[in-house]
Amino acid sequence: MTALHYSVEAANLNAHLFRITLTIPEPTAQQAVSLPVWIPGSYLVREFSKNLQNLSARQGRREVAIVQQDKCSWQIDCKTNQALTLSYEVYAFDNSVRTAWLDRRRGFFNGTSLCLRVHGQEDRPHRLQLQPVKGQPDWQAATGLVPVKTDKKGFGLYQAADYDALVDCPVELGTFWSGHFSACGIPHRFVVAGALPSFDGERLLADTQNICDAEIRFWHGKGAQAGRKAPHANYLFMLNAVDDGYGGLEHRNSTALICGRRDLPRVGEKKTGEGYTTLLGLISHEYFHTWNVKQLRPDAFARYDYTRENYTPLLWFFEGFTSYYDDLLLRRAGLIDDATYLKLLGKTINQVSQTPGRHVQTVAQASLDAWVKYYRQDENTPNATVSYYTKGALVGLCLDLSLRAEGHTLDAVMRGLWKRCKAGPMREQDVLDELQALTSRSWHKELQAWVHSTAELPLAKLLEAQGIRIQAEPGNFAQHLGLRHLDANGSVQIKAVLRGSAAEQAGFAAGDEWLGLEVGTRGQQGHWRVNKLDDVPVLLGKERKAVALVSRDKQLLRLPLVVPQQSTVWRLEASAGRASLWPGN
Ligand SMILES: [Zn+2]
Repeated sequence: MTALHYSVEAANLNAHLFRITLTIPEPTAQQAVSLPVWIPGSYLVREFSKNLQNLSARQGRREVAIVQQDKCSWQIDCKTNQALTLSYEVYAFDNSVRTAWLDRRRGFFNGTSLCLRVHGQEDRPHRLQLQPVKGQPDWQAATGLVPVKTDKKGFGLYQAADYDALVDCPVELGTFWSGHFSACGIPHRFVVAGALPSFDGERLLADTQNICDAEIRFWHGKGAQAGRKAPHANYLFMLNAVDDGYGGLEHRNSTALICGRRDLPRVGEKKTGEGYTTLLGLISHEYFHTWNVKQLRPDAFARYDYTRENYTPLLWFFEGFTSYYDDLLLRRAGLIDDATYLKLLGKTINQVSQTPGRHVQTVAQASLDAWVKYYRQDENTPNATVSYYTKGALVGLCLDLSLRAEGHTLDAVMRGLWKRCKAGPMREQDVLDELQALTSRSWHKELQAWVHSTAELPLAKLLEAQGIRIQAEPGNFAQHLGLRHLDANGSVQIKAVLRGSAAEQAGFAAGDEWLGLEVGTRGQQGHWRVNKLDDVPVLLGKERKAVALVSRDKQLLRLPLVVPQQSTVWRLEASAGRASLWPGN
């Protein structure tokens, strides 16, 4: 089969425009093409076609008519015995991992943003010609695509087995830092754009290598053969360091990441700060997805439909369990200690317990609703939804600790599922079948309660059985009141009011600007300006009642506030003498 051919040119850096020339050697008489509406891994219809412009079609010297069918598809009336060439531009100015970016410093793109899908020809080989960037002789290119004929800087011809492979290999362009290492015999490359000169690349490489080794061995055992059983023959990390940002997107043999510059390790600095620990957790998370969601995946993703939402109730497993293992594998790789691991776990537990939506929505429902809820957060999100990342991670924890109490581990279940589903599509029934096979008993009741109901998880009981002490600590003042806020411009901006909270009782609403406080009784009353939330407990002193002055739609309101006695959050501690946290097996 002849290959489809995409030529990508960073045509105008200042206008942020890529130019794409797509050659279809054997078009059909009514050839249809379309641009995906979403990118796998990020469950929101994003309408990438809004950035596509100036589409034209030719056969030889003849211009061919194009009829637009809908928001993202076109049909071309053409001769079948002659190659069809489409040419178009894509505006690229979204500094996230999900779409495309182009300016004088850097370029980045996902195939879902740049590469039209040629209907009926998705299974042919797809070739991508990356053109060197005019006026930027120092730029390089990096991608997980298979090189066919490329120069030293990475420009030239690449190949993908099919359309899915093409759009699952994003491309980084620019003057990035680059390093490499081997993990279980698999070559890995790490490129970093935007780092400061003090960036310690060697440390990032060494720590990432540790993570990759731990994860390959997690899935394929400790033997020398582990690397050969892995689904990827090579791997590329693409990290964009920015002033403020965080995120990642998993791909079959690469990942695109964003972090804050100040979170990168610095030369001469040995300690592992909170920001760097978070970055290592992100690296661990996205790399774990190489197995859990890119290969072993929801049956709904057996074949992606790029034209619409792809619904699955299983993100609690694929995102939640990946979140459970991301920090746990940092611990097992020796990159964090027990105390740090327990601190991270405590944070996840507190995040879920401060989400009233956990009483409204199950994690399976949260997964199906990701397209309209998790990815479209607003002021009502904490009241109506629960995160399949955080609650899913806690379901993973409950399952692991329950299995351990009976002499098994979740590790064995994950590896069993990998084999049972042949590293491919998985149903929830497969999880139940694997649990039954491993432990000779049904786990239907547990999954029903943890995944398909809104009942509280038995965290305290399971953690205490593992020798973890739970300390209740007073929460902060925002947690007492049950609101989320931002101190900005000299006042308190209310972002969300939690269901059943003192803030809701008082009548606060998202969007309110909290300006002042009246506190005290009779002759003792004071009227105070509030500039930040932490002013309020100082002004209150021992008083529990006050009147909050807020501005809503330029009208001043007096809200009667009753501050509750106490709210508590959890802090986890390992009991003295405990050997180690739940180890790998
Ligand atoms: Zn993820």
